[in-house]
Amino acid sequence: MGKIKKIGVLTSGGDAPGMNAAIRGVTRAAIFNEMQVIGIRHGYHGMINGHFKELKAYSVSDIIGRGGTILKTARSMEFMTEEGRKKAYDNLKNEGIEAVVVIGGDGSLTGARIFCDEFPGIPFIGIPGTIDNDIYGTDYTIGYDTALNTVVEAVDKIRDTASSHNRLFFIEVMGRDAGFIALESGVATGAEAIFVPELTNQAAELKDFLEKGCKRKKSSNIIIVAEGDEEGGAMQIAEKVKKEFEEYSVRVSILGHIQRGGTPSAKDRYNASKLGYYAVEALLDDQKSVMIGIKDNEIVNVPFRKVTKKHKSIDPADLLMADILSI
Ligand code: ATP
Repeated sequence: MGKIKKIGVLTSGGDAPGMNAAIRGVTRAAIFNEMQVIGIRHGYHGMINGHFKELKAYSVSDIIGRGGTILKTARSMEFMTEEGRKKAYDNLKNEGIEAVVVIGGDGSLTGARIFCDEFPGIPFIGIPGTIDNDIYGTDYTIGYDTALNTVVEAVDKIRDTASSHNRLFFIEVMGRDAGFIALESGVATGAEAIFVPELTNQAAELKDFLEKGCKRKKSSNIIIVAEGDEEGGAMQIAEKVKKEFEEYSVRVSILGHIQRGGTPSAKDRYNASKLGYYAVEALLDDQKSVMIGIKDNEIVNVPFRKVTKKHKSIDPADLLMADILSI
């Protein structure tokens, strides 16, 4: 393939702090290599509806420290249909876009893989962008570090009030299919128990723990629950506990969308910039249908096929460690 002259960049799925640093990285690296850059707004929805706007080097000034995504993001049902993807292809062709960089999660990269199988003439490069950290083939995803730090800060604050009142707090964090945020924030805040979607029957263990009472004379108990836990969210688990253990003063806190927002951490800014830069390098190298990831501190190119067929999940040994460390 001859040298690419015009590329598109978009963010898709849930927003994640650090996405702007990746957009900036892609834009500046591409312009340096004499490519024209088109920002595709609202993810695949914008690709289908022609929401295109050229990005110059100055268009991405002063965005590296901002949360969210200047390109906006969306979830598009239409892109999940053949007709929708054909519309998207026709728009890219009409606009003269010869390659696309997609910044998003598992679903966004699955969409990219399917599109590339149908329309191999337009290479796509993926960048892992999700606060969930659940993408196979990369140790790192954009936004996870910032989200984790937001959770830790919030849980520390809740611990202060929990211990003043001797309360049992159930704190719900994000992670519908993966328990990385729950596990790592739980360890980092010394939580007494952690519920993750990967494990079943954790409610029985919690019951056991509560039956023994506040045996260790702790002034507070913090239980972290991932939103996708099969036993229900924090609210449901707390309701059951309240009924069975009237002696506990139970409270629930659902952290919700604060986990997505805020200034990206230094790590998210640095890694997202790097992934943006290497996405353009991959295009210059004639690569296609690969995600740029970070594995063992090295930049890696992982085929979409692998990324979207395999599942990344927490190490259950870490949960055992968390249990032991909270005795
Ligand atoms: P997050 O991890 O933050 O949820 P995500 O990228 O996994 O991000 P999804 O909502 O799963 O978020 O996917 C984003 C978009 O990618 C979908 O709205 C859809 O347009 C596209 N997409 C997802 N799965 C497919 C699929 N199987 N076929 C085509 N497109 C898809």
